[in-house]
Amino acid sequence: EVAIEFANVTKRYPDGTVAVDDLSLTIEDGTITVFVGPSGCGKTTSLRMINRMVEPTSGQVLLDGRDVCESDPPVLRRGIGYVIQNAGLFPHRTVLDNVATVPLLSGWGRSRARERAAELLATVGLPAELGDRYPAQLSGGQRQRVGVARALAADSPVLLMDEPFSAVDPIVREDLQDELLRLQSRLGKTIVFVTHDVDEAVRLGDKVAVLRTGGRLAQYGTPAEVLRN
Ligand code: ADP
Ligand code: ADP
Repeated sequence: EVAIEFANVTKRYPDGTVAVDDLSLTIEDGTITVFVGPSGCGKTTSLRMINRMVEPTSGQVLLDGRDVCESDPPVLRRGIGYVIQNAGLFPHRTVLDNVATVPLLSGWGRSRARERAAELLATVGLPAELGDRYPAQLSGGQRQRVGVARALAADSPVLLMDEPFSAVDPIVREDLQDELLRLQSRLGKTIVFVTHDVDEAVRLGDKVAVLRTGGRLAQYGTPAEVLRN
């Protein structure tokens, strides 16, 4: 089942930069699809067109068959988990509250939201006692785990991850990758993951989309298919 479809999508920024050039691909439900390629090849732009942070200049991005540009952005985004490099946590809220904010915003009561947040922190392997810390008091790897927990709190079938593990050291990164694969085998989300690291793409992706400078799709297939070429 197709979860996300890019249909002849082009994004030209107002200054004339073509970030994505006639991209067409389909992303299957419940898979990890990795966009990989050098800096500036349009990975982040592609990802942000899924939650309408960026709108295509032409073409369409369809989520479950529906053009995302027909959805109200806040509603759309509430239903799509989003994780970025350095986690993008609120610095003045504790770790637990960073995660609890999401269920609170969808109308949960405070104590249920905090219980749910604690569950999610456990899910991503963060020790419970770190819940009362502020983000600056965590290691880089721990912060990324909180970012993942917050994205899972949207309880949505789709998770967008933009270089989520790039700022942590290689050993922690491998841990986080393993954890993501474990989570995925349990949760079966549709994950779209952006990285410039080919090894990471091959390790995580059910499918890998290789972009090249100028925003064109160079290859799209399983890691084995992509490595063969
Ligand atoms: P990547 O994620 O692969 O590094 P991006 O999608 O961030 O690539 O950027 C693709 C291209 O679009 C780059 O040339 C970048 O400089 C340009 N770009 C990104 N955002 C903007 C913007 N808001 N305005 C103009 N150009 C942009
Ligand atoms: P990593 O290499 O895993 O990212 P760090 O070297 O950044 O780890 O941190 C190691 C440990 O120190 C972590 O358990 C983290 O919680 C703790 N720590 C890091 N910074 C702070 C801080 N400012 N206050 C309290 N504890 C911290």
